Amino acid sequence: MNRIFAFVLFVSCTWSATAADKLKLLIVDGQNNHAWAKTTPVMQRWLTESGRFTVDVATSPAKGQDMSGFAPNFKAYDVVLSNYNGDEWSAATKQALIDYVQNGGGLAIIHAANNSFGNWSEYNKMIGLGGWGGRNEKHGPYVRFRDGQIVRDTQSGPGGHHGKQHPFAVIVRDEKHPITRGLPPMFMHAQDELYDKLRGPAENMTVLATAYADPATGGSGEHEPMIMTVGYGKGRVFHTPMGHSAESMQCVGFITVLLRGSEWAATGDVTLTEIPKDFPPADKVSVRE
Ligand code: ZN
Repeated sequence: MNRIFAFVLFVSCTWSATAADKLKLLIVDGQNNHAWAKTTPVMQRWLTESGRFTVDVATSPAKGQDMSGFAPNFKAYDVVLSNYNGDEWSAATKQALIDYVQNGGGLAIIHAANNSFGNWSEYNKMIGLGGWGGRNEKHGPYVRFRDGQIVRDTQSGPGGHHGKQHPFAVIVRDEKHPITRGLPPMFMHAQDELYDKLRGPAENMTVLATAYADPATGGSGEHEPMIMTVGYGKGRVFHTPMGHSAESMQCVGFITVLLRGSEWAATGDVTLTEIPKDFPPADKVSVRE
């Protein structure tokens, strides 16, 4: 009897410990000029299958509808992932996001989430760089990697641009950060939009990886940030402009960065350090079905 009791106790403790170890992640979506209803389930799948996260989704009212009741409980989560690019939130919901990150919450910004809220200055501080939404030199510099270092370019011009979609190489520029530590120095990302000319305050921002926006595919001719972190108050922000479509999100490089970035935003460290066997090499795309 004692042995059975001990066994039951062991199993229940093991189960509890595992459940408690999972990080609570909230995806915010509902409006986007991208196929959010297709991309949210893809990210939810990768995050859940990693075993590290439980995922909830907060879907806003549709564009043009009354947003006053949209008030996700951000502070109930370890990390909030934005797949949202749409109408303004209520003042209270905006302040709740500010307070959440200021007080140590994690935020993950994926692709067109950096298009949202062009004139919400605190949001621009949180995400570091953004595109479109009326962004220009008044919102901050372009940030590029030139001659071995990050350069803030204050020339005038619009924020946000991309050439035609194509696979492109992502180059690690900071191999010591938990998000990029141990990754190969370069991987071939699956077909995506390569965002260039993003601009913003870029305060407390670290660029972990870049990609060359080749003029041959309509790009800026600059090495543009592809993985960034931003410190905002006590909070941590992970930002990648990759992830235009569900197909782009099947890239094993994107998946790896999504998981590591979300974990780091939540905790400040990364335990998902294993490099997947199907991680893409420098010259060949690798996608997971
Ligand atoms: Zn896009």
